[in-house]
Amino acid sequence: MDLHLHSTVSDGTDAPAALMAAAKAAGLDAVALTDHDTFDGLEQGRAAASALGLEFLAGVEMSAEVGGHSVHLLGYGCRVDDPALAGELDAVRDGRFGRLPRLLRRLAELGMPLTEADVAVFAEDASSLGRPHVADAMVAKGYVRDRDEAFGRWLADDKPGYVPRYATPLVRAIELVRGASGVAVLAHPWSKRGRHDLSERYLRELAREHGLDGIEVDHPDHLPAERAILRGLVDELRLVATGSSDYHGTGKKAGYALGACLTDPDMYRRLVELIGARGGVVG
Ligand code: AMP
Ligand code: ZN
Ligand code: FE
Ligand code: FE
Repeated sequence: MDLHLHSTVSDGTDAPAALMAAAKAAGLDAVALTDHDTFDGLEQGRAAASALGLEFLAGVEMSAEVGGHSVHLLGYGCRVDDPALAGELDAVRDGRFGRLPRLLRRLAELGMPLTEADVAVFAEDASSLGRPHVADAMVAKGYVRDRDEAFGRWLADDKPGYVPRYATPLVRAIELVRGASGVAVLAHPWSKRGRHDLSERYLRELAREHGLDGIEVDHPDHLPAERAILRGLVDELRLVATGSSDYHGTGKKAGYALGACLTDPDMYRRLVELIGARGGVVG
């Protein structure tokens, strides 16, 4: 079971139905679609998965922040019509579109002019506009070879082309997911090499005081030693541990292939039971 996948509805390169077919072909038995800040791919994904006999879990990956640092929160089984959560996702998506002119001005200053139309070509199906779409436009203009180089030289949080945008305070994001009957799992908490913005102490606080339900322990960006520490925390705090590839199609390198990291079936069952107990969306 691979519980963190992106489609063209955000910054993946497979449309939801094609993504489900690829997941089936990769031998997966259960998947979650977790596009950034939108539920828009879920209906298509669910229908395609059902036709393929693939178990489907509705998800979303929320853009959140702690002390100005970007972190991601996975929400599983959320009721999509919850007004508070839907309203917040709207605000975050607005922030993504609102950032674009500023980002393009910055890139022009850096000698890489692009128009909004240049970017739109790569975001045709996207409800959530992201830096990866800008990266694709940079590739098309010949400024960089691929998304990786675009982030590595220009777009990553500590590079000259970085322009901030609105994200939900993490504690609020957890509240919103739970308020929508969903289960809140912190995505790849230690994905930034050598920089742990989230301390073990803070992870304990999130679980004990703010209702965090789980941690994505197995993720391609986590080193074995980091996974071991996170697994220890999950045991201590009785959280759900997930493992997932964070697949983005051809938008990320081979390490993020479908099934590159997997969730333990017992943990998956606990996750689904928890959603059911809260009155969230299962199947
Ligand atoms: P944004 O959503 O606009 O903040 O852009 C961040 C997203 O870009 C992340 O959630 C990843 O999905 C993606 N990303 C980050 N680093 C890279 C990279 N080196 N190559 C491709 N995609 C990346
Ligand atoms: Zn992404
Ligand atoms: Fe993420
Ligand atoms: Fe992701």
